[in-house]
Amino acid sequence: MSLSEQAFTALVDAGCTECPSKKLIVEAIVAQTMPTLGGEPYGTPTWRYKGEDLVQGTYRIACDACKHELFGESACSRCASADGVARALVTNNALPIPASCSSCGSELLTATVFVPATVTYEGKRAAKARTQTVPEDPGFHASRVECKECRTILERRTTCVLCA
Ligand SMILES: [Zn+2]
Ligand SMILES: [Zn+2]
Ligand SMILES: [Zn+2]
Repeated sequence: MSLSEQAFTALVDAGCTECPSKKLIVEAIVAQTMPTLGGEPYGTPTWRYKGEDLVQGTYRIACDACKHELFGESACSRCASADGVARALVTNNALPIPASCSSCGSELLTATVFVPATVTYEGKRAAKARTQTVPEDPGFHASRVECKECRTILERRTTCVLCA
């Protein structure tokens, strides 16, 4: 089961249970909006999740100081499939971002992607999410690509975007 928002807040408020540290590392799979040009990232992606999405996508919470794990979830956060997290982290993107729009030929597209990210919490204070994952990496999963010009949309519909 993924955490409830209440349980998440209680956990990060309490800090580590094994040492005095309040600094926790939250690992989650969350969405970002990524502008692309010719199929490559173009400019800075923006995070696109709310608090509840972060909570839902969280698969691990551990102490930064002593590395004690306070929460771990192996089922997929989107489809609840067993061991979905592990599959999501090792599989490659199944919706390649096209170099140009199939309708109008524009090279400027906007992709909605899911990436593994880490967020550092100190009590209620959360730092900005960080990710090292780029489109070529396992764990990067595009779910939707939209043309900035004509709004044509390419979408992954059939299977779970993260773990299938
Ligand atoms: Zn600790
Ligand atoms: Zn899934
Ligand atoms: Zn277009």
